[in-house]
Formats: sequence, structure tokens, C-alpha cells
Amino acid sequence: MAVKTYEFQAEARQLLNLVINSIYSNKEIFLRELLSNASDAMDKLRLEALQNSELKADLSDLHITIERDEKEHTLKVIDNGIGMNAEELQNLIGTIARSGTAEFLQKASDDKSKAAELIGQFGVGFYSVFMVAKKAVIETRKIDETEGHRWESVGDGSYTIEDAGELPQGTAITLYLKDVDEENEIADYTREWVIRDLVKKYSDFISYPIKMMVTKIESAPAEKEGDEPKTIEKEELETLNSMKALWARPESEVDPKEYNEFYKHISYDWQDPMKVITMKGEGTFEFQSLLFIPAKAPYDMYMPESKRGVQLYVKRVFIMDDCEELVPPYLRFLRGVVDSSDLSLNISREILQKNRQIKAINKSIVRKVLGTLKTMLEEKPEEYRKFWAEFGKVLKEGLYNDASQREKILDVMLATSTHSEELTTLKDYISRMKEGQEEIYYLTGENMAHVQKAPQLEAFRAKGIEVLLFSDPIDTVWVEMVSDYQGKKFKSIVRGDVELGSEDEKKEAKEKLDQERKDMAAMLGWMGTNLDKKVKEVRVSNRLTNSPACIISDEHDPNPAMEKILRSMGQAMPDFKRILEINPEHQVIKRLHELYSEKGDDEELRSMVELIYDQAVLAEGGELSDPSAFAAALSKVMSKALG
Ligand code: ADP
Repeated sequence: MAVKTYEFQAEARQLLNLVINSIYSNKEIFLRELLSNASDAMDKLRLEALQNSELKADLSDLHITIERDEKEHTLKVIDNGIGMNAEELQNLIGTIARSGTAEFLQKASDDKSKAAELIGQFGVGFYSVFMVAKKAVIETRKIDETEGHRWESVGDGSYTIEDAGELPQGTAITLYLKDVDEENEIADYTREWVIRDLVKKYSDFISYPIKMMVTKIESAPAEKEGDEPKTIEKEELETLNSMKALWARPESEVDPKEYNEFYKHISYDWQDPMKVITMKGEGTFEFQSLLFIPAKAPYDMYMPESKRGVQLYVKRVFIMDDCEELVPPYLRFLRGVVDSSDLSLNISREILQKNRQIKAINKSIVRKVLGTLKTMLEEKPEEYRKFWAEFGKVLKEGLYNDASQREKILDVMLATSTHSEELTTLKDYISRMKEGQEEIYYLTGENMAHVQKAPQLEAFRAKGIEVLLFSDPIDTVWVEMVSDYQGKKFKSIVRGDVELGSEDEKKEAKEKLDQERKDMAAMLGWMGTNLDKKVKEVRVSNRLTNSPACIISDEHDPNPAMEKILRSMGQAMPDFKRILEINPEHQVIKRLHELYSEKGDDEELRSMVELIYDQAVLAEGGELSDPSAFAAALSKVMSKALG
């Protein structure tokens, strides 16, 4: 094959541009990316060999070599891992196949300061070499092929691939380095100590030896007696990293920085994690685990194909990434490692799903993480708020898909409430419940701004009774399925009857309501007949102070947001008509009652009834079925009022 030139895929080119024009301040991380890739390549080879006994792979001495050439100003990173074939060179290095790339590029170009952070999440590690190199060459041979290939690019718009004949097992990457430029943070990456420092700083835990020729100064005996002893310089191949599995070391002996670097290695995140969680499996199954809560939610957390799960190791040997069986979906933001000493090395995905030990590990992780969150909430509420802002929505999924942990998730739930600007826990809500209040009141809706202004809140606000306000789509789902917390039932304030206050107050309110119902009975019936296509009943309300009317749901009907979700999922269901409640104290209602008592059924009054209904729909953020009829009726009223 002659030299073939290829264009980088458009997205890759854009990304490359971002990288080269360097939004990153620490260009030195390119080495970490190369060492990470090399380590992954050896993991892959080891796995492949386990699954395919025909494979002729040399696993006896997997390692990485770094070669520096000060004269040529080049740096070479060599591994004897799985290697790449021509197609992979094109697919893996030349293109970015990940979903959401376009969206990412949009975000990155909108806000340059975000770019570095975002690039990390996209795992575009290899491209980072162009921050420090004028040209990069990859020589590589895929393990099952006899001939290798050579890839070359200067990071502009294109790259070349050509046959390279016989090559050793694995991949060698040569960087033709840019000139040293301290101002732009380009150091001399051919210096021994520079590389030593970088390996220690970012890649010490890599589980394969990273070797490099280093200069040793030794003293030699003096040639003649009486002379000074001589020193001689000796070149020697040395392993630069300690290779210690971080999860196997006691937490007290690990520098927090080491955890952070390890996190970046496994997560593709460029930021430090929010929280490090170490754990050891006690009891029948032995395992060690090192888990991280990221500082920021990954961009794809809600995408169906999002990465889920943590890495699985068996006796220090890497088995797989994203082992879904180890963590439930509502903890899918966790990153980290589980190392078990009891599983078999060639465990398959199918076996994993049924494995008792994996299930037990999953359970311990859930317990440990929820426990850690509780402690965080109690001891570091500020930090916990940040956690909640990033991952609260995901955690709430557990409320309906893991009934066994419901109470524990509710323990650490934060919610908006009418009490104050700050989010509240349910425990705090309960501690503020008014005398005679038996239930946890809540209101759900699609939009927090609407929810906060809902007329149905008026009486609660007036009486100083706190209501929890929910607006995540997920809230409408769990709140239907979770009946109570600490013995207190959840109660929607827009469903069924509400009775507020002490026993005496409730009694008094009921008597008043009965009286009003009697007084207005004729009008209520007439209104109901007029609106019978839209509501199942019109009745007097005790939840309003300022508004003339509001709409509520019947005791056992689903709330409208839930209904919408179920319908959008294709669920067939009857039409649930709602209930119009009117405020008997309101001037508009009082006047309507007077006029109705005088005139009875009348066209003008009928259009008032429509207006009252429509504005109750608008007040809860709903949509009118006939906006132009509403506008026409409103204009008529206005012209009359303006005379
Ligand atoms: P990422 O590592 O985030 O997937 P990179 O741009 O660093 O992104 O690498 C792209 C892909 O190229 C890797 O996923 C891997 O499949 C392949 N690759 C990179 N370096 C090597 C290597 N040294 N040996 C084998 N494959 C490699």
C-alpha cells in the first residue's frame, strides 16, 4: 500500500483546532493521555488473550517504554499492547464517533472556558499531543496481523496511513516536539526529570511498568592511591511508576492528589472529583472498592447510551469498563473501581447478571454511597447542595425503581418549599409542621416559576402552612408511588379536599364551607352545566384567598403532569376531567352570584363563567383549548369596563 492521505472527519478537525489553539493551560497532560491509552491497550490484549486461546500474544512482559531524544527533540511512547489495524487507525484516531459531539462543539465554541472541561468528558485524549508536538507518528501492529502500519499527521486537516511491514507487538508513538516555550507552558519534554515528574504526578498507579533510560552517577575507585575517587555516569533502564493499586492501599497512606489523578485516568474528566469513597467488602465476599462522585454531571447522564457503572477488576487484573451490574441506574454518576478476589478472570457479561457475589457487591455499594451522602448532608451541607444540584434528579429515580432504598433516598432528598429560598430536607419539613397537620403537602408542575405562583397555594401561604414544590418531571412520577415518609403521608394540595389548621379551625372552616355551598348551590349547578365539557364539577373552595378560582384533581385521579407523561408513553386512559373550585369570598364570584340570582341563565354571565375557567387554567400554567375565544371574551369585558 502506498501512502494514502485522509481528511480528518469534520468534527475531529474542529476539535483538533480547539486543542491546538490551546484552551488548556496544562499542556503536560498529553503524556498522561498517551500512558493511559498504552495501559488500556495492554488491558485489552490481556482480555483478548483470555477469551481467545488461539491468539499468539506475548503477555510475559507487558510494559511501556519512554524514549527521549534531546538532540532530535523527540519523545517516543512505546507499548506492547493490542495495537491497531489500518481501519482502527482511521476509525479510532481520525474520527470522533461519540454521540453528542456536535452539541459539545457548540457548547465549547459558545464558552471557551468550558472547552477544556468538556473536551475531557469526550475522551479526545490522543489529540492532546498536538498541544506540544508539531508532528505525531504512530507505528502500530494489531496483535492478530503480521504487518503493521504507520500513521502520520501534523494536526492540520489530514493524516496519512501507509504499510510499515514487520513491526513489534503493540504501538509506538513518536512526537516531534514544538520548541520549548515557557510562556505558553511548553516545557522541554526530552528532559529526564521533566518526564520523571510527570509520570509520578499523573500516572504513578498505572499497573504496568513505565520504563525509561536514566542516568545514574556512580562513584568508582580512584585509579591511583591518593587520587580523588572518580564518578562515572551510567545509563540504566528504570521503572518510573510505583504501580500500586490505589484501592488496595489504606486511605491514610494515599495522598489525595493521587486519588484525583486516578479518577481522571478512569473517568476522562479533567476536574477533581467531588468526593472519594473507599470501601472494603466484609463478610462472605471479599472485595475492595474505590469510588468517586464527579464534581459535575457528565454531559450524557440522561442519554440512553450513557456510560454506566464502574470498572471491574479481578485480583488486580482489569476485566471491564462500565460494569452496569455493580451499581443501580440511579447511581450511574459514580465512577471508580471494584476489585474482587473471588470471581473468575474470564467472567462473562451473562454470568455477571446472575452472579450472587456481584449482587452482594452492588448492595454494599448502594448502602455505602447512601450512607456517605447522609453524612455529607449532615456534616457538609454546602457541599451536599452542590451534589444535589448535579445529581439529585438521578438519585430520585431510585425512589420508584428501588423500593428497598426509598426511605434512605428520602432521607437525603432536598426540595424547594414555600418556607424559604433554601432547599429543605423532609425531616426539616416535618419538624416545621403546624399543630394538627398530619400530611406532607406538595404541589407539582412543569415549571417552578408557575408552581411558585399557583393560586392553590394561597390559603396555605395565608395560614403559614409549608408546601413542597416540585417541578422535575421525575417528581410527578415518584410522588405518585411513594405514599409516606416517617409515617406522614404525601398529599397533593391540588387533589381532593384539604383541611387546614387545628381541630377547631377545621370544624369552623367546614361549617362555613357548608353554608357557602348551600347559598351558592343554584349557581354552582348552573356553572357546572355550562362547563360540563371541561370539568366534572364546580364547587366552593377553601384553598384560595386572592384568586377567584382554581382547578384541582379528584382524589383518585392522576395529576395532570403524570397524565401527560403516561399519555406520551402511549398509555391509553380515560379522559380525567378536573374540578373547578371558586372562591366564595372573591369580589368577582360574589358579584356573579348576585347577578345570577337576579337574572338567572344569561349569555353575558355564561361568558363570564368561561372567562373564570380559562383564567384558572392560565394561572396554573396550562394551555387554553380556544385562546381566540378567550381573547374575544376578554376584549368584550374590557370595552364594557372602559365604557
Ligand atoms: P480515548 O482514549 O478517550 O478513547 P483517544 O483519542 O485517546 O481517546 O484514543 C482513541 C482510541 O484509539 C482509543 O480508544 C484506542 O482504541 C485507540 N488507541 C489509542 N492509543 C492506543 C494504543 N497505544 N494502542 C492501541 N490503541 C490505541
